[in-house]
Amino acid sequence: TYVVIENCIACKYTDCVEVCPVDCFYEGENMLVIHPDECIDCGVCEPECPADAIRPDTEPDMEKWVEFNRKYSELW
Ligand code: SF4
Repeated sequence: TYVVIENCIACKYTDCVEVCPVDCFYEGENMLVIHPDECIDCGVCEPECPADAIRPDTEPDMEKWVEFNRKYSELW
């Protein structure tokens, strides 16, 4: 899965949301999140982000971000 990290805070672009084929972006408190179970790992959103906030969970130390993204996406 891909997840959104803190670089997203205060970013006003929503290009990522528009390109996602499965609509798995959700609004968190002050940033967007990706539902980790709904993301199909296509990678289309990653280059759209001007803040470099969208990362694959295969990067080191991403467990807390996966849980953060899950928590806020499941509030909807
Ligand atoms: Fe959506 Fe693909 Fe990005 Fe996952 S990787 S959030 S499915 S655009």
